[in-house]
Amino acid sequence: MKTKKTVFVDCNDTLIAVRHANRGEEAPAGFKAIERDGQYFHVMARPSAAPFLSALAQDDCEIVVLTGGSTRIQGLLLNLARLGRLVTDIIGYDLRGAAEVPENWVLVDDLQNGSISFEEKLSMLGITRKTVGETKYVQVVKQHCVQCVAFKGGEDKDPLSGLLDTVREKLGNTYQSK
Ligand SMILES: [Mg+2]
Repeated sequence: MKTKKTVFVDCNDTLIAVRHANRGEEAPAGFKAIERDGQYFHVMARPSAAPFLSALAQDDCEIVVLTGGSTRIQGLLLNLARLGRLVTDIIGYDLRGAAEVPENWVLVDDLQNGSISFEEKLSMLGITRKTVGETKYVQVVKQHCVQCVAFKGGEDKDPLSGLLDTVREKLGNTYQSK
């Protein structure tokens, strides 16, 4: 049996650029507009996101979007960006605790170690400085986390595809929760 590999990937500024908009505001070039529950969003897929996710799917990786936002809204935004079909699952903050951490995994996020949102993302996987201890925490970040440059729209100057080798290499690292 093949080892299950999971790529957890952040949503906003990693796979898509998203901006909160005002009602009636025109979307900037390349962005699509959507309204949900009285909230207005402008969304653009990162050009390198689809090729990046497809390459990982070809490697038999499960792709789980891990987001601090709402599972439903982030799902809508990913579908609007035509990326929804490329992901296995979406876990938002409302489903925190639903994520299972397999032996081989990475987390791709535009945020880095030290940022509260990044630490919350890891805590959604049950990994906090408190639960695993400082030494192991630092080791987990080093072995399993990959930082990408934030994408805010426009040109994708630092494409996710450039991280494929690093992601594949870190997927070879194993993780024991105990
Ligand atoms: Mg982000």
